[in-house]
Formats: sequence, C-alpha cells, structure tokens
Amino acid sequence: MDPERMIIPDFVRLTEAGIYCKTGDFYLDPQRAVRTAVVSHAHGDHVAPGCVDVYATPPTMAFIQLRYKKYAGKVLHEMPFQSSFTLNGVRITFYPAGHILGSAMVLMEWEGIRYLYTGDFKMQHDPTCETILPVQADVLITETTFADPQVQHPDPVEEIRKLNDMGGQNIIIGAYVLGKAQRLTELVMTHCPEKKLRIHYQVLPYQHIYNRFGMSNVRGEVLDKKELKTEQNLVYIVPPMTYHSYLQRRDFRMIFASGWERLQEHNTSKLFISDHADWAELNRLIGEVKPSQIWTLHGDGRQLRSHLEGKIQVHILNHD
Ligand SMILES: [Zn+2]
Repeated sequence: MDPERMIIPDFVRLTEAGIYCKTGDFYLDPQRAVRTAVVSHAHGDHVAPGCVDVYATPPTMAFIQLRYKKYAGKVLHEMPFQSSFTLNGVRITFYPAGHILGSAMVLMEWEGIRYLYTGDFKMQHDPTCETILPVQADVLITETTFADPQVQHPDPVEEIRKLNDMGGQNIIIGAYVLGKAQRLTELVMTHCPEKKLRIHYQVLPYQHIYNRFGMSNVRGEVLDKKELKTEQNLVYIVPPMTYHSYLQRRDFRMIFASGWERLQEHNTSKLFISDHADWAELNRLIGEVKPSQIWTLHGDGRQLRSHLEGKIQVHILNHD
C-alpha cells in the first residue's frame, strides 16, 4: 500500500503547550505542565515541570529530577532505549539522538506508519553520550536549528586544541551545565593534557549523573577560588551566569563555547562546539531515515524544502 495515503497529516501538531499527538493523547517535549509528557532530553526548552505522567530515558529522568526535584511529575516512567511502550495504541520507542547523555529520538508507530521525532540531535562523534542510532521512518519530524547550507560545524578536536596555543593565561569557558560542560571536560582532558581543568561547583551534580551512567571520561575537579590567582594554565568551565559575571575581567581569557556566532561577540577567543546537527549531518540523517515526508520544527525549514524539492515533501510545522 502507498504509505503516502496513510500518513496522518496532523499526527502531531504544534500547540502552545508543545508538540501534541492527538491519536496518542500525549505531548512531545511540552513547554508547560500537561497530563502526559514524552521527553526527548533534559534541556530546559524540552521539559516542563508538573506533568502527571512523564516518559523519558533513565539519564534524562535523573537530570529532570535533579532540576525539578519533587515537581518533576507525578509518575516518572523510565524507558530504556529500544524498549517499546504504548500510549493509547501508539507504540513508542526511544533511540539515541547523540545530542547529550540520555537524549532520545522518539519513534511513534500507528497503523503501520512510522513517525520519527528527532528532538535535538547530532551525528558528530561525542564520547560523552550514546552514539546516534537512526532508524527508518515514513515521516521524519526534525529540528532545523542549523538547516542552512552555509552552516558547517568545525571538528571539535581541532577547536579544543586551540586552547593549547593560548599560553599560560587562565581561560574561563562559559558553557551550559548539562551536556556542553561535560563534552568540554572530556575534550580538554583528552586533547589539552598540559591544562589544569577545573569546573564550577554547579556543574558537579551533572557530572555525577554522567559518571553514574558509565561516562567515566567526564572527570573535572571543582575549582578552589584561590587557584585563579595562584595557578596558571587553568581551564575553568562555568555556567553562563557565572561567565557573564567575569566578562569585565581582563586578566582571564574569556571563551563561550557554542555553535552560535552571535554568542561569540564578547569573547576574547572563539570556540565553536555545537551539539546540534549542521547541514551535512541533517542530510546524512535524512539519507539514513529515508522518509517520504519531513516535517520541520525550530528554525527555518525553507532551505531544506527547496533542497529536497521533487525528492521528499517538506512541511514546515507552524503553531495552531
Ligand atoms: Zn538540547
């Protein structure tokens, strides 16, 4: 049978509360408290506290509980990768998305059609999280954060090695506490052995969860404040708020690690390390999933639509 006929055009819809699947009566990555939430990963823009039933992978659940304590949700259902569960007849399976530890792509199967929601993903090598595991689907529902042929992320190893050419001046790196900080920790330990790596105390609880889930390559020591004066050759990883409080200081080299050009303005040096797919990675994923339709969210899907014209239908999902 021609799957084009059976794809439900509004199987998921973008609503104020998040991405809603009416057939299964659940939200993907809700933005506010809802009854049933299927959460792809624990970044703040993908999870809302106060839901009744929350479904996520075990690492994602650990991060959610760390962030929201008892407000995380009423019933937390930990679902390991590649084990399926059913919500109102929709069969759901998590597959690694390669974005941060525990991040999942969500495969939803209904009446023989496979809808794959990527959440945030990347295909770049990252030894601090599960490697992405693409599966085939009829509909690929994906972010288009960097869906622009101009966007090509540099090799993260080459980026981090820049720190080795910066002399002994202490370096402060601003990074999101979940995911980016751990990736940087591993990269610095592995590729900048001369540097003394330190982390901000707020990064430590996340590191503990990484270690608990087997990522023993994420090992940063918490900074003792005196060290900034007494030591040289430090690389100190801090959350964005702390980073901004240091920005006026001229005695450190200030770097914000991001894939976004606009976040690089105030920094003394640039460090482009992204946990999102660039144009080539997005197209590689499409090649592996082999969808007959692509529905895009977050970002701008227009370039992708013209690139795939005549080959794959691309629909840009807008708010209801
Ligand atoms: Zn994310």
